Amino acid sequence: MPYTIPRPQTLPNWHLKEGTTNGKLTGGDSLKKVSATVSSWQTCSKHCPMFNSCYAKKGFHTRQNANAVTTKGRGSDFEGFLENIENLRNNSFLRLSVSGDLPSEDWCYSTEERKIDLNKLKAIKKAVQSTKTLAFTYTHLHCDPKHKEHNLKAVKEAANKDLVINISVESKSKALKMKQAGFDVALVDSKTFKEAKEGNAPGFFACPAQYKDENGEKSRCIDCKKCSMFNRDEIVVFDKD
Ligand code: SF4
Repeated sequence: MPYTIPRPQTLPNWHLKEGTTNGKLTGGDSLKKVSATVSSWQTCSKHCPMFNSCYAKKGFHTRQNANAVTTKGRGSDFEGFLENIENLRNNSFLRLSVSGDLPSEDWCYSTEERKIDLNKLKAIKKAVQSTKTLAFTYTHLHCDPKHKEHNLKAVKEAANKDLVINISVESKSKALKMKQAGFDVALVDSKTFKEAKEGNAPGFFACPAQYKDENGEKSRCIDCKKCSMFNRDEIVVFDKD
């Protein structure tokens, strides 16, 4: 099943699943205070280096969910999405955009440009704070050639301990550069992942949901929470699979 190409000039849809069974987040258990959201495919930037190969498009269920959200078979408009966040249980743990990216200004969706809508991002933060929820996500919108600076500035302005936004990159040098610039960073790089796993990459933290520990078990985000730590020392590094 291919991923659904959004109809031109349509606004994105947003879906929140309370008690998600996302394997990485909860190991498949449904925990009432762990939730995940999916944003329509059109929130992604065409300039994302993972545009055709990200885990969300490769995984059957993630692709199926995002297709349903994109065709508006599931989810709601942005206002409805904010209400769903406000209705979360207090002190929830929220993974934003299992597929998709941050909201851009509406006019962008009739073009290939993606310029982060700072007002919408702040509205998400306000909604998250209303229930003392800890939210985290990742973004590739810094890859937009025209709005790169704006998008990085928007992330810097909106991100805080309640809404952690990881800058997603695919090279170690870029990861270090972004870290140096004061961002929380997530790197996909199998070589660095292996080194970090073996304790040979200082400053890098290998995602423990991607390898088995000495007891033969993988971790879950709800136990690890590294990607939701604001202004952390380590760059999180993922295996490319
Ligand atoms: S590093 Fe931790 S929080 Fe981040 S994806 Fe892996 S398990 Fe989840």
